[in-house]
Amino acid sequence: MSVEADEFFSDSYVEARGKFGAACEESGVGVSSLEHPSETGPKGETLAIDVAVFGRADAPNMILINTGTHGLEGFCGSAIVTQWIRRREYERLGANVGAVIVHGLNPWGFAHLRRTTENNVDLNRNFIDHTTPYPDNPRYGELHGIVCPSAWSEAALAEAKDRLDAYAEIHGRDTMMDALIRGQYSHADGMNYGGSGREWSNLALEKICAEHLAHARHLGFIDWHTGIGEHGELVFLCFNEEGGELHRRAGEWWGAENVARDAAFASAGRKRPDYKGLVFYGVQQFLPGAEMAGAVIEYGTRGSPPMYKALRLDRWLQFETDRWSPENADKVEDLFDSFCPRAEEWRRGVLDSSLAVTRAMCEGLASW
Ligand SMILES: [Zn+2]
Repeated sequence: MSVEADEFFSDSYVEARGKFGAACEESGVGVSSLEHPSETGPKGETLAIDVAVFGRADAPNMILINTGTHGLEGFCGSAIVTQWIRRREYERLGANVGAVIVHGLNPWGFAHLRRTTENNVDLNRNFIDHTTPYPDNPRYGELHGIVCPSAWSEAALAEAKDRLDAYAEIHGRDTMMDALIRGQYSHADGMNYGGSGREWSNLALEKICAEHLAHARHLGFIDWHTGIGEHGELVFLCFNEEGGELHRRAGEWWGAENVARDAAFASAGRKRPDYKGLVFYGVQQFLPGAEMAGAVIEYGTRGSPPMYKALRLDRWLQFETDRWSPENADKVEDLFDSFCPRAEEWRRGVLDSSLAVTRAMCEGLASW
C-alpha cells in the first residue's frame, strides 16, 4: 500500500473519524457532530455524524458532499473527503460557493461494518413518505426466502442461484432485479428494507440541511457510494429529471453520456431499478427553495453478481450467525474488501478520479 492511500483510507470507523477530524482541524475548520442518542459501536465507541463547512457558509451556491449512507461504504467516502480537505481543494471554491461535508451519515453501519442502519434499514430507501401506504413490491415477497438463506454454504448459494435464474427466465432479469433492489417495506429482516418510519440518520440530515443549507439557491450534491460497476469503474446515478435543466447541468459537469439514466447498466444490457426513498430525494424535499443537481456516485468493486452475493452475506452475518465470532472473521474481511477493496491500484484510482469529479462540480457551482 502506498503511503498516500494509507494516509486517507482507514480500517475502522474510529480511525476514519479521527482522520477526517484531524484534516478539518489542520484546515482550521470546526466540526459539528450529531451524536447518536442510543447506539454505540461494537466496542462501545461513540457514534456521530460529523459535519464541516468550507468556503463561504452563507454563499448562494452550496455544495453538499455526503458519505457513509451505506455504512461501510463510508470507508471509501471518508478517504475521498479527507483527501479533498488535506489537499486544500476548498481553496479553489469560488467566492460565491460554500461546501458542506457530511462524514458518516449512517455511523452505526460504518462502525459495525454493515450497509444498513441499526434497524436493518437501507438508508437510501428510507427517504419516503412514511405516513402514506408504501410502494407495492409484491415480487420481493416471492424472492425473500431465496435471497435470505439461513445457511451460508456453497450448496445453499448454488440452490439460490438456480432458483433466481429460474425466476429470471420466467419474469425477466430486469423485473427480478428491480424487485430485489428498488426497496421493499414489508420484510424487516430482508434485503433493501426501507424501514417503517424515518431513521435517526434521516432526521439528522434534515437538521443538517436546515442549519447549513436553507439559504442555498443552487445546490450541487454528491453522495459517495461503492459497489455498483466493475472494479474501479466510476458510475454516476443522477436522479434529476431526464431532459430537464438540472440533469443537463449535471451532464455538463460529468459528461451527458455518464449521467444518462441507464448509463451504468446499459453495458450489461440492464435497466436501472426504480429506486424508492433515496437520500437524493430527501435532500430535494428538505431544501425546496434550492435548485439541486447532482448524483449518487459509485466506485465499482467486484461487479454485479458478486456484489449481490455480498449484500446477502451482509444480511446473513446480521441475522443468521454471530457476526463477530472468530469463525466469521474471513467473511467479515471479505465483506469489507467487497465495499472498500484493499487493492492499492483501486484506492489510488479512487483518490485520483474523485478529485477531478468533485472539482468539476465545484467549478460548475461557481458559474451557476
Ligand atoms: Zn451504496
